[in-house]
Amino acid sequence: MKHSRRNHLSDESGPGQQSDDVASLRRQLQDLQRQLAERRRLDGAAPCAETSLAQQAVQPGMAAALDDFSETMQGWFWETDADHRFTYMSPSVERITGVAANWHYGKSREELGCPASISEAEWKAHLSGITARNGFDGFVFPRVGPDGTKWLRTSGKPVFDRSGRFLGHRGTASDISAQVHAERRASALSDEVTAKTVMLETALATIPDGVQILDPDLEMVAWNDRLFEILQVDKEAILSAPKPGRALRLALAQADVLSGSDPDRAVARMEAALRARGPLQYERCLTTGRWIECRVNAIPGGSRLAVYRDISDTRAEVQRLERQATTDCLTGVANRRRFLDIATGTFRAARRDQRPLSFLMLDIDHFKRVNDTHGHAAGDDALRGIAEICRRDLRAGDRIARFGGEEFAIMLPETDVDAAAGVAERLRRDVAEAELCAGGARFRVTTSIGVAPMKQRHEAPGDVISEADQALYAAKREGRNRVVCA
Ligand code: GH3
Ligand code: MG
Ligand code: MG
Repeated sequence: MKHSRRNHLSDESGPGQQSDDVASLRRQLQDLQRQLAERRRLDGAAPCAETSLAQQAVQPGMAAALDDFSETMQGWFWETDADHRFTYMSPSVERITGVAANWHYGKSREELGCPASISEAEWKAHLSGITARNGFDGFVFPRVGPDGTKWLRTSGKPVFDRSGRFLGHRGTASDISAQVHAERRASALSDEVTAKTVMLETALATIPDGVQILDPDLEMVAWNDRLFEILQVDKEAILSAPKPGRALRLALAQADVLSGSDPDRAVARMEAALRARGPLQYERCLTTGRWIECRVNAIPGGSRLAVYRDISDTRAEVQRLERQATTDCLTGVANRRRFLDIATGTFRAARRDQRPLSFLMLDIDHFKRVNDTHGHAAGDDALRGIAEICRRDLRAGDRIARFGGEEFAIMLPETDVDAAAGVAERLRRDVAEAELCAGGARFRVTTSIGVAPMKQRHEAPGDVISEADQALYAAKREGRNRVVCA
């Protein structure tokens, strides 16, 4: 069709041929008109205006040009007559919708039916506008074709001849499926984002930890109220700062007992740690005395999730349990396990640095008699008193532990056997001279002490302690209330 028109209207043809072409074109138009009338008759459609709008308003050469234009665009031109029936449509409509141009000829928009997903009211309003010979702009509707549903957008304007007679409408239509699908995807995405944001906000409001989410520039993009409560910082002041993320870090640095007098440097250190890859975990004591644990995890894309927990109570409980596990509850001095842990470290250091180290084993003489005479509670008081005398007599680096019932082990770093014997003798004397007040009674007790220095052959503190124990037994054998060196 396109090619035959072009042949007839070619500028290169001579004048004689031009009049032949016009005659031939006229014949073709008449032929088309006849075919159209016949088809309408067969379809039972109402007869349309005798001369189509296309024939009246669009010059044949112009129609060919429109066909050509439409080939290069994602759209087409159309015309309807005074009865609102299609009389012209660019052939590109077939490429775009899969429906041939001439299929539309003679059909009105109403006959094409209300497209699915357009409300009846909207469709009626559109049609009544056309009937009222109004123009319309950007009417969007779906059209189901062989290639599936296409979203089309059409605009039209009424056309009148010089005498003001209404000839029909003329306009354009285009396929905006890609745009509609993109908009739908964007809308679905936006719904999803909204739903996830609500979920996140609910989760943040529910969890007992303080949470902040930082973007790749370490600016705060999400947080919960607990964050400000746990960190004990002024929420309003932080959130009204130009950069709340940084303001919070500064407030934290100022509240951190470790930051010292230079919070800006502390913030810089914090930011470097936050920017470093991998998870981060640390504990901090705030100036308020509360202990805070912070865990930071990277979120794909460069953001960070920081979770803060007040661990003051847990920490105090852990310390209490640790103390319980390492302390003798009657006397308050270290227990055997704790003593051996510390002794192992001290023993290794002394071996490495070739420094002297000695151990004492102290046992109360005839302690059974104390219990028998004054009662078990008085015995307990006596044990506490003797532990206190020892503790007072020892230096800061010395260690004492209750090793058994009425038996104490003492570690003396930087002390050779002679000096250790001197310490032992002082202890023995001080205990022996102390009058114990327990269970309403006043009495004295004596002790026997074994002394052993660390030697080359010893491999562990237990080896030295065992020799001190043997010396203690020697002291018992030799009559008690004395010091014996291994
Ligand atoms: P020795 O001079 O040979 O050491 O005589 P001892 O009586 O001190 O020795 P023995 O081992 O025969 O008795 C130790 C006593 O210490 C037995 C026990 O009743 C007492 N004892 C052990 N632990 C405790 C305690 O926790 N409280 C009290 N009150 N007495 C304890
Ligand atoms: Mg004893
Ligand atoms: Mg004993």
